[in-house]
Amino acid sequence: IPVDPFDLVIFGGTGDLARRKILPGLFRRFRAGQMDAESRVIGAARSDLDVDGYRAMVREAIAEFDPASARDSEALEAFLGRLGYVVVDAMGETGWDDLEREVNSDRIRAFYFSVGPRLFGELAERLHKHGMADHDSRIVVEKPFGRDLESAKALNATLAQHFHEHQIYRIDHYLGKETVQNLMAVRFGNTLFEPLWNSQYVDHIQITVAESVGVGGRGEYYDRAGAVRDMMQNHLMQLLCLIAMEPPAKFEPDPVRDEKLKVIRALDPVEPGDVVRGQYEASSDAPGYNEQVENQGSTTESFVALKAHVSNWRWAGTPFYLRTGKRLKARASEIAVVFKDAPHSIFGAEAGRHANILTIRLQPNEGIELGVTIKEPGPGGMRLIDVPLDMTFAEALGPDDADFPDAYERLIMDVIRGNQTLFMRDDEVEEAWAWTDPMIAEWEARGEPPLPYASGSSGPDEALALIHRDGRHWREIK
Ligand code: NAD
Repeated sequence: IPVDPFDLVIFGGTGDLARRKILPGLFRRFRAGQMDAESRVIGAARSDLDVDGYRAMVREAIAEFDPASARDSEALEAFLGRLGYVVVDAMGETGWDDLEREVNSDRIRAFYFSVGPRLFGELAERLHKHGMADHDSRIVVEKPFGRDLESAKALNATLAQHFHEHQIYRIDHYLGKETVQNLMAVRFGNTLFEPLWNSQYVDHIQITVAESVGVGGRGEYYDRAGAVRDMMQNHLMQLLCLIAMEPPAKFEPDPVRDEKLKVIRALDPVEPGDVVRGQYEASSDAPGYNEQVENQGSTTESFVALKAHVSNWRWAGTPFYLRTGKRLKARASEIAVVFKDAPHSIFGAEAGRHANILTIRLQPNEGIELGVTIKEPGPGGMRLIDVPLDMTFAEALGPDDADFPDAYERLIMDVIRGNQTLFMRDDEVEEAWAWTDPMIAEWEARGEPPLPYASGSSGPDEALALIHRDGRHWREIK
């Protein structure tokens, strides 16, 4: 379905995120016919380029990050023809009058803040000053949204001076993933799961977001953040909310976000003994964390595992184990809803028992799988085995339908449509910081360094112990 004509300004239009995700994503929407031939994308950054130089840069970026789409050279040239470029300084006056001339007031106007967070407030102020913050314009704000409750509140207050909440799209690209939305379809579109979706039937929930890479070139930013600020407060928290929330009355922005907010508010403070922080060591072929950041004695964590409790009627007694980290065994993200064992085995101990596990896999191979216990085929008597009911989308839907949009392109189209359902509201972000701040303050006060872990492992042994002591175990990272 095509969206209305728009002008999208990408502040930071020459940056890594714009080249890797935003521009290739827009090109795919253009090819799909969703972005109409009138709409324009205007790069705005400090780099001294003219529009031809920008088009050449975007052509290269698309060829690098989506070579298959780039082969459609006719579409690519038409898309490049829709690009503009303005040299703009977010911190000064350069370029703002030019930008004002570029942006067509008859169309939907969206401004994507794909720049460092210290510029978010500056951009909002200057858009306002130059008359581009009118009632219908939208801003898209990248992560990180603050580094604690205080800074997030200050940023929300600055943005609120110039834009209404309904114009502010705080992006969390995890919410744009097909599987994450499917999680809601599975929960609320079937009668099968919802009656079992509570502490009476669910033993525990695990959320893992594992990366195999280290901090790479992002060391400067990452060392000031760490795994809790970079991943836990936003991405893992959002996933937890979608799993734990009550059914919203409608799949609309405020009903959904109200329910997520209630989950965050129901979270107990994390017990100091329920958090494990780690930092990766050097391996034979890769440097350790401390060799990749400026501060060689850094105590920033590149891994965190914790146990959380959602204290409400539905979830009391069902722990949520969350972990995320860099330089782990594999790049793998999943949510596992581990159901309780059948209350009694009629087949006897030798038949074996398997708990049902609903796995929502975010990467690789997005899909949802339900482990079901059946009889092992053959004459060997009643032996139980666990088989997956697999809904890997690429297989279930066939190659055409499975060519679903990447998270960023879907979310950008939602911005143009004015649909905030998959974006974080101001109060959600603040409550999430209110939950993580005391945890961070506690370990900072203790001054304990993170535990070392081997590159390519599953994190520190203590993270394994965190769940083992409850008689459970982490699912393998693979
Ligand atoms: P980058 O350093 O590659 O690019 C920064 C861009 O900002 C450049 O286009 C630069 O010209 C522009 N810029 C810098 N100072 C400016 C100024 N004063 N006025 C105008 N433009 C200015 O950064 P990036 O990796 O593209 O990240 C951009 C934002 O997206 C950051 O907030 C980052 O945290 C977030 N983010 C990035 C990624 C990623 O994969 N790169 C992922 C998630 C979130």
